Amino acid sequence: MGVPISQMWTVATYVLSKRLKGEKRYPLVLMLEPLFRCSLACAGCGKVQYPPHILKKQLSPEECFAAVEECGAPMVSIPGGEPLLHPQIVEIVNGLIARKKYIYLCTNALELKKRVHEFTPSKYLTFSVHLDGLKEHHDLSVCREGGWDIAVEGIKEAVKLGFRVTPNSTFFDGTDPNMVREYFDFVMGLGVEGIVLSPGYSYDKAPDQQHFLGRAKSRRLFRAILSNRKKNWKFNMSPLFLEFLMGKRSYDCTPWGSPAYNIFGWQKPCYLLQDGYTETFRELMETTEWETYGTASGNPKCANCMVSCGYEPSAVTHGFGSLSGFFAMAKAALSSYQDKGALDLLNSSFAAKHNSLVHIEGAKAAAEASLEETRA
Ligand code: SF4
Ligand code: SF4
Repeated sequence: MGVPISQMWTVATYVLSKRLKGEKRYPLVLMLEPLFRCSLACAGCGKVQYPPHILKKQLSPEECFAAVEECGAPMVSIPGGEPLLHPQIVEIVNGLIARKKYIYLCTNALELKKRVHEFTPSKYLTFSVHLDGLKEHHDLSVCREGGWDIAVEGIKEAVKLGFRVTPNSTFFDGTDPNMVREYFDFVMGLGVEGIVLSPGYSYDKAPDQQHFLGRAKSRRLFRAILSNRKKNWKFNMSPLFLEFLMGKRSYDCTPWGSPAYNIFGWQKPCYLLQDGYTETFRELMETTEWETYGTASGNPKCANCMVSCGYEPSAVTHGFGSLSGFFAMAKAALSSYQDKGALDLLNSSFAAKHNSLVHIEGAKAAAEASLEETRA
């Protein structure tokens, strides 16, 4: 597994302490969005669709620190927008390191090579670089020719300087699984700590049967990608969440596991949906009707969702919250998932018809429907 022992230990003891106190709902990762503006305009991203007066706003370092302390989660993901566009991002990151939070600074890496020298390597800081596969696929996904080359240069510089780096990819149903496996080989060759991936969020107004097929297609895609694993592939994710993506486990959503805070306040119920805001974290936890979210709730907005911000906390809680979960996690971390059926999928028309153009059409459709996809 591509997560350092010290970070795993921090998360494990945090989960156990919450269990011992009898707390049923607690945050694991704070999704701290200090701003929405970005230097890219990816198809399917809802963040950069805000009007200019909203895009100009940003959280102050003090507001970020107050949210982090109020929430108490051991990990903080800083997506956006593009956090490197925040004029005080170095101060924010240093303040979170001083608070011993494990930070995932999500960046499109257009500025990474130039700006990485302003930061200090730390076990608490990881650059989570948005990279949606190999060159052609990524450039189409982010609507920027040459974006992949710049991001890769940024990764190389950060690795060279001794930073933790995890490339972070979002894949849709139309993605070619063979391309993704080649991409894994490539990024591991760059010396990154581990790979992060998530299926794209695609709320579809289609009937329930189609929703079911959406999840089924996602599972088939991730079974093809993640089975028959190579030894050098490392993932900076819960191995049980990867099993969930492959269709080997079923979890319900834990939206309170990754609460989101931004210029509007605490977002209900998760990073993807906007069903209102609260002023305090406590109010978020106490007033959100949590039972109306997640696939099992029947909420159509959640029907197709398998994203990491909702379902990885479920896997982490399972893995660190019981002995059986811990053994399942250890077994999953060691497995290479030999699967002849998955090899057949890679060689079948299923893979052949999944190409970049299909992917980008899917992303455009998502953009038209004002959807957001996660980079968490
Ligand atoms: S997906 Fe990320 S990189 Fe792309 S426009 Fe949105 S915030 Fe920027
Ligand atoms: S299922 Fe997805 S969209 Fe619904 S609450 Fe969970 S993370 Fe949010």
